[in-house]
Amino acid sequence: MIILHPDLLLTATALSNAPQCKRKPILSSLVRSTSDVTPALVWGSMLHEVMQRCLTEDRWEETFVDRCINEAVLGGLGELVKIGLSEDIARTEVAERAKGMKLFKDKYLSQEPKVCGKSTSNFPLSSHVRSQSTAILTNTRSGASDAPSLLAITKLLDIEEDIWSPTFGLKGKLDATVQGIISDPSSPSSSSYRAPPSYTQTNTPLPLELKTGRSLAGMEHRAQTMLYTLLLSERYGVDTKDGLLFYTQSEGGEIVRVPRGRNEIRGLMSARNEMASYMWRRVRKGKSKAMDLDMEVDIEDASPGVSNPNPPANSGIEDEPFLPPPIDDERACKRCYALDTCLLFRKTHPNHSSSAPKKKRLTYDPPIPAFLAPIFDAKTEHLSSKQTAFFRDWERLLALEERDLVRFKRELWTLGAGEREKRGRCFSGMVVNRQIKNYGAADKTGGVWGKEGKIHRYTYSFIRSGRWVAPFPSSPTQSPTSKLSLLNGHLNTGDPITVSIEPNLLALARGYILELNPEEVVIGVDHVLDESSLKERVQRTRSAEDDEDDSELVFRIDKDELFGSMARVRSNLAQLFYAGGDAKRLSLVVDLRKPIFSAPTPPFVVTPSNPSTPPHLAHLNPSQLDAMHKVLSAEDYALILGMPGTGKTTVIAALIRELVRRGKTVLLSSYTHSAVDTILMKLENEGGGKDGAGASFGVLRLGNTDKVCL
Ligand code: SF4
Repeated sequence: MIILHPDLLLTATALSNAPQCKRKPILSSLVRSTSDVTPALVWGSMLHEVMQRCLTEDRWEETFVDRCINEAVLGGLGELVKIGLSEDIARTEVAERAKGMKLFKDKYLSQEPKVCGKSTSNFPLSSHVRSQSTAILTNTRSGASDAPSLLAITKLLDIEEDIWSPTFGLKGKLDATVQGIISDPSSPSSSSYRAPPSYTQTNTPLPLELKTGRSLAGMEHRAQTMLYTLLLSERYGVDTKDGLLFYTQSEGGEIVRVPRGRNEIRGLMSARNEMASYMWRRVRKGKSKAMDLDMEVDIEDASPGVSNPNPPANSGIEDEPFLPPPIDDERACKRCYALDTCLLFRKTHPNHSSSAPKKKRLTYDPPIPAFLAPIFDAKTEHLSSKQTAFFRDWERLLALEERDLVRFKRELWTLGAGEREKRGRCFSGMVVNRQIKNYGAADKTGGVWGKEGKIHRYTYSFIRSGRWVAPFPSSPTQSPTSKLSLLNGHLNTGDPITVSIEPNLLALARGYILELNPEEVVIGVDHVLDESSLKERVQRTRSAEDDEDDSELVFRIDKDELFGSMARVRSNLAQLFYAGGDAKRLSLVVDLRKPIFSAPTPPFVVTPSNPSTPPHLAHLNPSQLDAMHKVLSAEDYALILGMPGTGKTTVIAALIRELVRRGKTVLLSSYTHSAVDTILMKLENEGGGKDGAGASFGVLRLGNTDKVCL
């Protein structure tokens, strides 16, 4: 099997959509919106949380399940507000979908496959009965008269395991990884049960995908699960031939078996290669040096120019189509969730580029078909040629940004830890610090279930291994064997990181740096780093010739380059251009309509000499007061420009106080958490609240608790 551009890791979910339309998954990876929340998605995400928690804690009693549902609902209040439904409705909906969980537990969670609800150790396997409580592993591809296979899930290995595989050019987040015993009839079955079959057993790690609903094993679900068997085989160093699908609302609570089909995998991987070849056209730099990701591009050449819609000749972006042609299938397109984005790109990137029609193209968009013409007009007719060019130019700039992300991402598997540490983006040769009582193996300090607790569930302290040799001396006078300070590189407190073991166990856990000093780094991560099971996996995944010393488990901690993505930024850009989108901002930002200013109400009459001037304004200088006046007069927006040290922070703090005094609610946001915290600390320190301490109004601070300083 040839993997084209393996550095591009496509998600198994995206690939499972590819057989129908290859354009759709690429569009979804380019433009990711948080606003497309539907009730089905919300119930699904809550139910996943409930099921994963029951699996983790191995508790299935009704009161516990109810408690998990309640906590999942409370943790998803934000989503409930978006879909406009109440907590009570959410509880009912999730409980309805959780009905199959108890059956799942009774049938499959066991050390041996169950027959009629009993362990096969005291109930001969061969005398199986097709009863509700037998742990039958449903196979939608087998005949009705075939003797069924049986399943026992003996252990939960992980939940939400995030696996990156440059070997297959894939990545995926598995709902659950379980150790399972599958008992297969080893002799051809007869149509009657007079001659019970004998059974053979396999015991391997298996991917378990959880799906809400009743429908059994649609093509997309099967494809996704099959791809997970590839990821799991590599991650655990075993040959996982089957995946499991569990539909939480299925009548009998049965699990569906998804065997890894050779032809299906071949078809999926060839779709992956085709998609990767399209995507690669966007990340490579310059056509002549397609493989050279490090080649620099002059940003000026790619800067947006509304009067020049043609892309710059040497950016290598959009010289060729980067999206597969639309399929124009009436049934599929009318129901497609990416329809708006698809049509926006079709309008703004006709045949993907208006440049150089003489160039030979690999693909052409077909003409808009009759069924789509009225929809296309309704969705895009409002866009002027200037607006179309604006979207195309800014979208291209985002693609340029993405090139760097891809370059940094691939360093995790193309550069050794030492090499990457030289670039300041990794701590190499790290071991778990056993000296510290509070940290270390599976110390669960952030064990809050729900969205807040997902990224920081476990805390670990790491130090350099005693056998570690510095990849370079930290100063000309220092030898490579002296300890290199962890403060030397570009990693800082609050940075997102991944924890890996070379060469195959990439990104075992993700999280943030909590504390950092020259010898030690403390991190909060989303997965347990269980050293004994990791050692086994390291030994299995290493080749026989590898003579590495496995007595000590050595980790690398990398800056998490997957953290950033332009998909959300691109979505924000697209929101301006969709029909029914943000027309006001479209005219202000794209058409450059001048912002309107009018006298503030109540009038702004503050002067430093005025005795009625509120105290938070009295200390402002005339330029700062001018800035305040401008902002308070703005109907659309106002920009304050100032050199460092000219008092912009002071103006912002005073502005917040003044707006609150006028009965307004203020949203303060910034690109960094620290900038928001600086303003909030200023409000806190300047007093004004009760007894002169703190702000005189309430502040709700949103953000990752590990990154917020207050
Ligand atoms: S609208 Fe049609 S062509 Fe476009 S992404 Fe969806 S299914 Fe594919």
